[in-house]
Amino acid sequence: MTAVLEAQLCHGASSPVPESLLVVVAHPDDEAFGCGSVLARAARMGMRTAVLCATRGELGEPAPGSGIVRADLGRVREAELRAGCGLLGVDRVDLLDFTDSGVSGDPVPGSLANADPVHVQELVAAHIDELRPDVVVTLDASDGHRDHAIMRDAMLAATTSVDGHQPDGAYLFCLARSLMTRFTGSQEYGTPDELITSEVDVSDLLDVRWRAIRAHASQVPPFDAMPPDLQYGFLATDRLRRVIPEGVVGRDLDLAWLY
Ligand SMILES: [Zn+2]
Repeated sequence: MTAVLEAQLCHGASSPVPESLLVVVAHPDDEAFGCGSVLARAARMGMRTAVLCATRGELGEPAPGSGIVRADLGRVREAELRAGCGLLGVDRVDLLDFTDSGVSGDPVPGSLANADPVHVQELVAAHIDELRPDVVVTLDASDGHRDHAIMRDAMLAATTSVDGHQPDGAYLFCLARSLMTRFTGSQEYGTPDELITSEVDVSDLLDVRWRAIRAHASQVPPFDAMPPDLQYGFLATDRLRRVIPEGVVGRDLDLAWLY
């Protein structure tokens, strides 16, 4: 039995089953630290999966003891992105050629934050037109990083444009505010829990998720600084906010669309 057929039987034959997924992110590690289990689950279901990454994460902080100098970070992190995606079963990885903007300060020429937002949107839209994904996912950017917000906004603009290919589903992968408040001590981070439309138990994917996270050896994942129960809270459940189709009211626990 094919994975897609199995999914149809699980969710009912009338449920539309997507065949392809595109994840749009700003930096290497966003795909693994962020939504690695979405990619792994889609790949295991037989969906075609692709990642579009805007930068090579040149301004990330090299992990202590890694011996990596900043000048090499972009090359190292692109290799980590490709290795992590390979572990998750991603079929295709593409990069835009912006540089990492960092979290603050004046953006330098060539950085994502220095780019015309319309230009970024056009690049994302062109990629969506080429790949024609059924579902697109990006991060909710609720951690406050400006590059995450730029790619979120570019994805939303590209998928709601009247021109070009329009995916059947678009989701924001969310950091729940309840968890982020525990982690940061501040209530300004995370998507309010009541806006999350889909929750999925992905505890069966923890192993592959962690291997993909550790593929980014140049970076220290935030999960390493968490107590075990909080770490499990972030990694064993996927939380998504559906933005296409619009008009979803309340919590939608039927993820036939995405899974
Ligand atoms: Zn990032």
